[in-house]
Amino acid sequence: MKDYQVIIVGGGAAGMMAAGQAAKNGKNVLLLEKKERLGRKIAISGKGRCNITNEENVSDFIRNYPGNGRFLHGILREFDNVALRQFLAHYGVETKVERGGRVFPVSDDAENVVEALAAFLTEMGVTILTGITVEEILVENGRVIGVQGLGQKRFYAPAVIVCTGGCSYPATGSTGDGYRFARKLGHKVITPRPALVPLKAVEVWVKELQGLSLKNVEASLWIGGKKKAAEFGEMLFTHFGVSGPIILTISRQAGEALGKGESVKLQINLKPALTFEQLDARVQRDFQKYSNKQFKNALDDLLPQSLIPVIIHLSGINPEGVVHQISREERKRLVALLQGLTLTITDTLSIETAIVTAGGVDVKEINPKTMASKCVEGLYWAGEVVDVDGITGGYNLQAAFAMGFRAGRAVTEEAFSQV
Ligand SMILES: Cc1cc2nc3c(=O)[nH]c(=O)nc-3n(C[C@H](O)[C@H](O)[C@H](O)COP(=O)(O)OP(=O)(O)OC[C@H]3O[C@@H](n4cnc5c(N)ncnc54)[C@H](O)[C@@H]3O)c2cc1C
Repeated sequence: MKDYQVIIVGGGAAGMMAAGQAAKNGKNVLLLEKKERLGRKIAISGKGRCNITNEENVSDFIRNYPGNGRFLHGILREFDNVALRQFLAHYGVETKVERGGRVFPVSDDAENVVEALAAFLTEMGVTILTGITVEEILVENGRVIGVQGLGQKRFYAPAVIVCTGGCSYPATGSTGDGYRFARKLGHKVITPRPALVPLKAVEVWVKELQGLSLKNVEASLWIGGKKKAAEFGEMLFTHFGVSGPIILTISRQAGEALGKGESVKLQINLKPALTFEQLDARVQRDFQKYSNKQFKNALDDLLPQSLIPVIIHLSGINPEGVVHQISREERKRLVALLQGLTLTITDTLSIETAIVTAGGVDVKEINPKTMASKCVEGLYWAGEVVDVDGITGGYNLQAAFAMGFRAGRAVTEEAFSQV
């Protein structure tokens, strides 16, 4: 059987980038992928459009990784958003910038990103075997010697880069295998948990709002009675609770608090651009306009239709009452409600439905300059399998590509100086 110089386990964003880089530096590289096709998660990312990275200045990037951003410092500087866009352009994928600095392919087709990476692998001469599930990383005397696939099939190489991803969206192939390898090899694994995940709410009225998307609202997260985070932007009501970009961003903190048994509330400000007084004045104007109408017919200018019955119910104001009979206290209560629609959060959805897995191989046991394991010689980690996670906006793919880039380079610079 042919021996290789580097084996990459997992053909996602990190694995494809690592494989191409290692081969570019002259190594004989084998990429093993469990699924029949490479890059299945990339293909569904960004709702099939792939939010590749963010336009933000790379020096501000780090703060968008609540999970160990500092670990990425040098890694992101070496392969930043500009480098990633140039790389993709070289393989025919031009990119564009949208709201919030989010970068997408001009084609709006995530498959083009997978195709670009596949072209890179072909050009660099990487051997690709798909439909191969790696079961074990083989180690002898503290050094990697290769990997074993299902059915006892072995592949040998003095360096292995594990890029098996997290454990969310398992249908894409990322089923948490890397965590099992890590534990067996003596690495500490920070408990995997959902990050960027929808939240479940106890209030039954959310069901009535299912499908309602709100733009330009502010969601604040209250843990144990204290405001801990606030995000402005877009959110969505679902049959179980809430989702959408701003909810996903605060979900990590919500999940952690719930895990500790703390009370978690979400407060939605439907009119965050106005102060209480300004909104009160606005409501008064509407009430004057509709003074002889019933309350239930007086909110059309203020709220989306599906939200009106819910707000009326929660306000406690008689929906059949005539508007000019609404008291000052009732109006103030309504204004407060519009700026503080409160949900009691009971849980996150499961880790399988999370966009990203937080937790993973402890960064303390990985050299950030090389992505090399500090536990086993010749072993490297890259991508979501590492305990690094970012918010929405292209940060997770950028991190996976950058870690893959670094590991692919380092393996050629380092691993062979030791064998
Ligand atoms: C629905 C969704 C939308 C997303 N949208 C975005 C977005 O727009 N922007 C963004 O930045 N991030 C997004 N993300 C997150 C981003 O896609 C991931 O963080 C990123 O793909 C991780 O790359 P990775 O290479 O580390 O892992 P993965 O892409 O998960 O790749 C891991 C690969 O390893 C393979 N594998 C696993 N175990 C084995 C094994 N034992 N043997 C062989 N192969 C194995 C898997 O089959 C898989 O192909 C999204 C995620 C989801 C689920």
